[in-house]
Amino acid sequence: MIATESAVQTIRFLVDGKWEAPHGREAHPITNPATGAKIAEVLYATEADVDRTVRAAHTAFLKWREVPVVDRVQAFYRYKTLLEKNAEELARILTSENGKTLDDSKAEVRRAIQMIEVACGMPSLMMGDSLNDVASGIDSHTIRQPLGVCAGITPFNFPGMVPMWMWPFAIACGNTFVLKPSEKVPMTPTRATELLHDAGLPAGVFNLLHGGKQAVDALLHHPLVKAVSFVGSTPVAKYIYATAAAEGKRVQALGGAKNHLVVMPDADMLKTVEAIIGSAFGAAGERCLAGSVLVPVGGAAEPLLKLLVERTNRLAVGDGLKQGIEMGPLVTSEHRDRVRGYVDKGEAEGAVPLCDGRKSAAAGDGYFLGPTIFDRVEPQMTIARDEIFGPVLSVMRVETLDDAIKLVNSSPFGNASSIFTSSGKAAREYSSRVEAGMVGVNVGVAAPMAFFPFAGWKQSFFGDLHAHGKDAVAFYTEQKVIMSRWF
Ligand code: NAD
Repeated sequence: MIATESAVQTIRFLVDGKWEAPHGREAHPITNPATGAKIAEVLYATEADVDRTVRAAHTAFLKWREVPVVDRVQAFYRYKTLLEKNAEELARILTSENGKTLDDSKAEVRRAIQMIEVACGMPSLMMGDSLNDVASGIDSHTIRQPLGVCAGITPFNFPGMVPMWMWPFAIACGNTFVLKPSEKVPMTPTRATELLHDAGLPAGVFNLLHGGKQAVDALLHHPLVKAVSFVGSTPVAKYIYATAAAEGKRVQALGGAKNHLVVMPDADMLKTVEAIIGSAFGAAGERCLAGSVLVPVGGAAEPLLKLLVERTNRLAVGDGLKQGIEMGPLVTSEHRDRVRGYVDKGEAEGAVPLCDGRKSAAAGDGYFLGPTIFDRVEPQMTIARDEIFGPVLSVMRVETLDDAIKLVNSSPFGNASSIFTSSGKAAREYSSRVEAGMVGVNVGVAAPMAFFPFAGWKQSFFGDLHAHGKDAVAFYTEQKVIMSRWF
């Protein structure tokens, strides 16, 4: 079992049903971002590790695809119960390696369980169409068949949930899976895999490797890997999409974001402020759905900013394992320094700081940075354009809804966007015209549930079929049309 806050353990691989910690590798430290203390170490998979894992997954696939779908999902029911029983422990591990608050971690585990619940419905989700007498005496029906070995490569910010956007759907469809989670947060996916192992999937159906670029590249080039699901930053998403597609694999690559929150003058300001706080500073801004540009329209700016600054100054920043903390540290000291660099840059480029996170960072050895709000941000400024992925909110004032839509749509990203208003007409117009894959109306984090598809547009997504929901069933299967005539 994985250590939480006390002992340091080596995080293992799961290959063909066996736990491994290969000797003679460099061990990479995992630290608790709230304290800077080393809590685990992780070994990186080599090309040879990937090759034997994919081969084992391929051998397992030849049997697994023959198992009826109703039987395939039985282990998922057991897994759901195990996850529920161990949710608190899993959430504590998540907070201790990622830094988000315990409440956020618990909510993430709950979202992960919902993925399992939806995948349990695969007997219905995989059903095809049929029509008799498509021509005289000829009947036609469609079936969905699994692809083979599928690979998943996931980011640091949702180590409990994002892997489950992928493998439950892939495996329920009859594929086998190799997961390579973020090397920054390997403990949560490993503990979740221990529970899956206990739930009793056959050996080789689900495999777990840790590591970085070397392991990813080996997966992208392996001839037995038939599909690649990726979630992470845009430059890597583009690389994954181009490389895996050139190898003839099916790919979905979800990338980075720069999400806008538009506030109309008729919005309920108190509720809107709470939603903005959650969106911009929840999980320390390390969410692909985090609001990072606030766009007040016309007269909304003054009342909104007054309330927002007051509330931000009261935000409780500290160790996410402690009661009452609203925002934890950033994931690593390097990432904290990078985000702080953006705050320096914003100031240097002439934006007006209303709250300065450099001054309000919690004390200690943790990777803390307080919440920052910049007013008077202009489109050419770096903080208006780049994904910062930290607790930094840029305010870009506009005069009309039309101006807001033009501003939002000028972003190269198109992940999520929200509008706050009490006007159905404004909400409808915004939802219809905004170029983003996920839209919130008076909702600050518009995260689709497991039974809906999840992905952005433009530079936030490379591929065709989105994550989870019915899209996942289409992504992880090949469709066949059968025409039958009986003489
Ligand atoms: P990242 O791109 O650095 O890493 C993601 C994964 O790719 C990790 O498993 C990592 O090991 C691997 N990787 C990193 N560099 C690589 C390279 N050069 N070649 C091959 N593989 C490589 O992302 P991150 O910092 O872990 O996560 C944060 C990013 O993820 C943000 O940009 C965020 O917006 C994005 N994200 C997007 C979504 C979404 O739904 N669109 C969801 C969560 C996170």
